[in-house]
Amino acid sequence: MMSDDEIREWLTTEDAEKVEELHRNARMAAESVYGERVFARGLIEISSYCRNNCHYCGLRRDNRNAERYRISHETIWKACDDGYELGLRSFVLQGGEDMWFTDERLAEIVKGIKERHPDVAVTLSVGERPAESYRLWREAGADRYLLRHEAADPLLYSQLHPKEMSYDNRLRCLVDLQRLGYQTGCGFMVGAPRCTIEGYIKDIRLIEKLRPAMVGIGPFIPAAGTPFDKCKAGSADMTLRLLSVIRMTNPHLLLPATTALDTILEDGMERGVMAGANVIMPNITPLTERGKYSIYDNKRITGNDAAETLDVTRQRLEVIGRKLTLSRGDYE
Ligand code: SAH
Ligand code: SF4
Repeated sequence: MMSDDEIREWLTTEDAEKVEELHRNARMAAESVYGERVFARGLIEISSYCRNNCHYCGLRRDNRNAERYRISHETIWKACDDGYELGLRSFVLQGGEDMWFTDERLAEIVKGIKERHPDVAVTLSVGERPAESYRLWREAGADRYLLRHEAADPLLYSQLHPKEMSYDNRLRCLVDLQRLGYQTGCGFMVGAPRCTIEGYIKDIRLIEKLRPAMVGIGPFIPAAGTPFDKCKAGSADMTLRLLSVIRMTNPHLLLPATTALDTILEDGMERGVMAGANVIMPNITPLTERGKYSIYDNKRITGNDAAETLDVTRQRLEVIGRKLTLSRGDYE
């Protein structure tokens, strides 16, 4: 385990060679378990409606300017069918906390995917629900769940969220998900207003304690129409350092190079992988809805269909000696 001092040093050193050493160590740790493989998850953004009001997020309830949509069962199934044809065996359904998607409806959607394609992994990422809902979806066949903890420091958590949201409930959800046998992912934003190095150390300690299968981190990017719309974005450099430090805590982790990183940095995906990431989540949301899921501004959105997106991703990874791998990509 790295000491607090060591983490602080990796995150703050101005010695470029030390930073390169950190990324190299992290990259080798990932290679030691997963070799040249980088796993693809087909991301389907199922709804931009949200009952929550997280201060940082463009989909927050009070953002009048957010475009709202949700996609139907059939459209979700079709996106999975098309992805499956292309070889994808891992799908992520993500959305705001949209209660139109009742427990039963989501269970039906998951069941539908699993009946069509029993060999795929289904990941849900639809926020906080009671343990009973998570149980129902697990029984319907969901394999994984992404729910970032957002901030391990309760004070910072309370500064990023409205009063009605609680740190305790967030953690309760994560513990329930793990208890129910989901491969669970937590994570946080880098450079969100008021976050500090000491806060990141707490995030890393929480990750060590929860032992998740996945960790999602990406830079904070301001979103129009939110209380933080004038704040500055998180830094790519700090995101890359944190990716590496998190990788060093567990070589087995499934660690995505996120779209947010690829949005603030032209070669964010490549740099993320070179810093120890081993998952990419190509957006396969139907083109008619793509672009309306606006969590932050200037999100890198392409008008490419799923096949083109996979091709571009594959080529970009080949250049850095990595192989886009379409299998389920379970925690090994
Ligand atoms: N509603 C679900 C899933 C969608 S939000 C949930 O909240 O879990 C997915 C993630 O997007 C959040 O966990 C948050 O960390 C990230 N996010 C939200 N607003 C962001 C912003 N302005 N910049 C970068 N990431 C953001
Ligand atoms: Fe809703 Fe998730 Fe955005 Fe919070 S981060 S407002 S829960 S979509």
